[in-house]
Amino acid sequence: MEDPDTLTALFRRHGLKVTRQRQCIFEILYSNPAHSTAEAIYVIAKGRMPTISLKTVYETLHSLAALGEIQQLDLGTGSTRFDPDIHHHHHLVCSSCCRIENIDLDLGLLALTAAERHGFMLSHTEVTFRGLCPDCVARDSGSN
Ligand SMILES: [Zn+2]
Ligand SMILES: [Zn+2]
Repeated sequence: MEDPDTLTALFRRHGLKVTRQRQCIFEILYSNPAHSTAEAIYVIAKGRMPTISLKTVYETLHSLAALGEIQQLDLGTGSTRFDPDIHHHHHLVCSSCCRIENIDLDLGLLALTAAERHGFMLSHTEVTFRGLCPDCVARDSGSN
């Protein structure tokens, strides 16, 4: 994802409205850990600009995704995650607390045979590794 000033220029270039509220969301995304939910971004934004609405947060996130500045991810955690890291990567997901980490791993197209491809023209492979993060492992072993 680009820095907030570049995003402001990009929005204007695409004829999209730029408001202080939208810029506030750019700044939050730029300085916060990846994979936030819209609700989490909204809570931070509301702390800075009490009049901001969840609708504004959603609209801004969807505009950023449409411009290819962030990725919208469904990692099976119950809510859509927004990832400012748009380079192709995979994820580790904690099944207990939903912590998400990036993994850089080149899996290519996993060498599917023609029959396995079912005629599809493949573009990329996404893998989600699931398990327990160190905190959840420690908590589980502590309670036993
Ligand atoms: Zn965890
Ligand atoms: Zn990611």
